[in-house]
Amino acid sequence: CGVFGIFGHPEAANLTYLGLYALQHRGQESCGIVASDGNYLTSYRKMGLVADVFRDPKVFDRLPGSSAIGHVRYSTAGGSDVKNIQPIMVDYHRGSIAVAHNGNLVNAQEIRNQLELDGSIFSTTADTEVIIHRIAKAKADTLADRVVEALYGIKGAYCLVFLTETRLVAVRDPNGFRPLVLGKLDGAYVVASETCAFDLIEAQFIREIEPGEMVVIDKNGLTSYHPFDKVDPTPCIFEHIYFARPDSIVFGQSVYEVRKEFGRVLARENPVEADIVIPIPDSGVPAAIGYSEESGLPFQLGLIRNHYVGRTFIEPAQSIRHFGVKIKLNAVRDVIKGKRVVVVDDSIVRGTTARKLIKMIRQAGAKEIHVRISSPPTTFPCYYGIDTPTRKELIASSHSIEEINRYITSDTLGYLSFEGMRKAAGVADGSAGHYCDACFTGNYPVKFPRLKSDSQLG
Ligand code: SF4
Ligand code: MG
Repeated sequence: CGVFGIFGHPEAANLTYLGLYALQHRGQESCGIVASDGNYLTSYRKMGLVADVFRDPKVFDRLPGSSAIGHVRYSTAGGSDVKNIQPIMVDYHRGSIAVAHNGNLVNAQEIRNQLELDGSIFSTTADTEVIIHRIAKAKADTLADRVVEALYGIKGAYCLVFLTETRLVAVRDPNGFRPLVLGKLDGAYVVASETCAFDLIEAQFIREIEPGEMVVIDKNGLTSYHPFDKVDPTPCIFEHIYFARPDSIVFGQSVYEVRKEFGRVLARENPVEADIVIPIPDSGVPAAIGYSEESGLPFQLGLIRNHYVGRTFIEPAQSIRHFGVKIKLNAVRDVIKGKRVVVVDDSIVRGTTARKLIKMIRQAGAKEIHVRISSPPTTFPCYYGIDTPTRKELIASSHSIEEINRYITSDTLGYLSFEGMRKAAGVADGSAGHYCDACFTGNYPVKFPRLKSDSQLG
């Protein structure tokens, strides 16, 4: 998912709309904006893309005020459903509060069960709602303290942006799984999942919100807190591999540069005699450029993307996903015919995309197809907010590289090594911090209260 917030700007809702537009790649199922005029919160939320949901400019008349938060959603917890659209907004005895969440809580079900035993009635099936219930029940006096009290004992990944009548609060979990950045525009503070949202609205990027940090913004300015026990941060390496936009700075590094470096190391580790390097657009492009630069093989666009199709992987139904590959990409015969082709992509999840595309590239006349993947084999599901499928569906969890090569029908298949990935991301030489890499190692930095069975994932 993607989150955005702005405090103290006369165009708050409009700017939030633009921010969400830039974050659309982080979720395409639904989106929403909640605004505050200082006395009341108002919301507009619907299923669909930002451009469609906010097509009618009159919508913004219903979102008055100088502060606002917004959310783009793709479901990792709670199903794709109208009732789960965010921001969630409620009224309770202290006023109104809204929240937008990126991430996935690992113990939400336990907490929800407890809250329900105590009489709470939930209106969504999303993990995020437990936080709102706990804020309503919190004993502390200030909003900041109530948020901290509510988050006590909540485990997992969360970047949260709260809005009340008079305040905006942004919190990043102590592990810092998901990105969250702070910026400024015409004297107003802005927060967003990625810096690409700041670029669009011409806000100045100030800094990351740190793992475990909470900032409270009100008419007196910004106050920063570090209310949680410190742990070694484990930001998600998959943001750099696939999820974030390449024009963003994520966890202090340029996504584009990291991806290109993945491609360079990939080329050193898996060289092959060939004529051209082609990316699987869009996710494979920076790594393919890196592969091409390092290998000296010319970079070509052998597959053309239909830009009116969303991110295939993220559409929840398997049936749509199958269909998606062909709608989305088509081979350029003149580029591919008679060539030995290196095909670069960021990851293989189920193997469906690669298998279909290799068939397409073969039909376009390729002489040889050498697939190169700019991450290690994905063998474990994510519990922290990336919608990877169950272990059973992850092809690399039960198949060797040679078996996957046969399944996707490539001539050769090579993955970036785990150490190569760490080196490219600056971990091995110590220039970057640690990352979560559980989807490659099963080494989960935040344990689950009880191990979820595969059937509960998705
Ligand atoms: Fe990211 Fe993988 Fe860790 Fe999930 S398991 S947070 S996708 S690195
Ligand atoms: Mg892709």
